[in-house]
Amino acid sequence: MKITHIEHIGIAVKSLETAISFYETKLGLKCYAVEEVFDQKVKTAFFQVGQTKVELLESTDPEGPIGKFIANKGEGVHHIAFATEGLQENLDELAENGIRLIDKNPRKGAEGLQIAFLHPKDTLGVLIELCEKSK
Ligand code: ZN
Repeated sequence: MKITHIEHIGIAVKSLETAISFYETKLGLKCYAVEEVFDQKVKTAFFQVGQTKVELLESTDPEGPIGKFIANKGEGVHHIAFATEGLQENLDELAENGIRLIDKNPRKGAEGLQIAFLHPKDTLGVLIELCEKSK
């Protein structure tokens, strides 16, 4: 298993517009990209904070993962994404060690990253995303 740094923190918001305004005007961060991830039924906005990003997630469908999350828990931290090297090997290693995976194989996330989620029941309640830059 090789994790290099925290790639981003995913935060579920009801309104991307309201949230971007807060991060820009109150926290002084600058949104550098807005991208829709159709797969995940979300619109995302990114802020660079040192080596780590903040990824704001607005649902585009109440039945999507972020739509359901907000309905159950409200707005807030949704997941932590670790940058890895050798994503598929890392997933295989976790599965061999009995950690349930939401994604057994990497899939396409925002920003051209390959991503995979681990099952929060096996990660002490934190939804963990592993990601790797596409080669
Ligand atoms: Zn993410």
